Amino acid sequence: MNIGVLALQGSVAEHLKLIKSVNKKINAVSVKTIDELASVDALIIPGGESTTLRRLLDEFDLFTPIRERVVAGMPIWGTCAGLILLANRIEGETPYFKLLDVDVKRNAYGRQIDSFVTEGDFAGMYINMVFIRAPKITRVGEDVEVLAECDGEPVAVCQNNVLATAFHPEMTRDNRVHKYFIGMIDEK
Ligand code: GLN
Repeated sequence: MNIGVLALQGSVAEHLKLIKSVNKKINAVSVKTIDELASVDALIIPGGESTTLRRLLDEFDLFTPIRERVVAGMPIWGTCAGLILLANRIEGETPYFKLLDVDVKRNAYGRQIDSFVTEGDFAGMYINMVFIRAPKITRVGEDVEVLAECDGEPVAVCQNNVLATAFHPEMTRDNRVHKYFIGMIDEK
């Protein structure tokens, strides 16, 4: 099984490392090209800077191929900037993939200095949640399941084959959210 990490910008190495730690039979693949995308069973869009990521996705002609794979059922997981790119609406900006029925507000938890770590329940698992200039999910559509909350607000959501977290599981040594995501492939 091949799990891809979009490798244009952001926390790529951290995701690759945690995927490798889940199971020796799982390959962690950097995805920069259409051919690399075709070789993966699931894709992670890492945290980083969504403005930069969307520009690079356009430049590398990856918008349509990624979107088509997800519409066809490939699991995708966006962390932080990745969540922003998946959302149907971004406050004050044009949305990008529109694959997840939520609204988001960028940098709504404050500036870099306001980044923080907290603990909470993610789908029945108690995990550390690292927030780095994270977006807030300000609306959740009817078909979207909330998997984690922070101070009563959704911070991890899932809609069919689309998973998104406002926080960064790749910034911890805990691979359970990666395991959860890989489990979404088996369900398909
Ligand atoms: N602040 C970034 C953005 O708006 C996201 C931060 C992150 O991915 N850690 O794109």
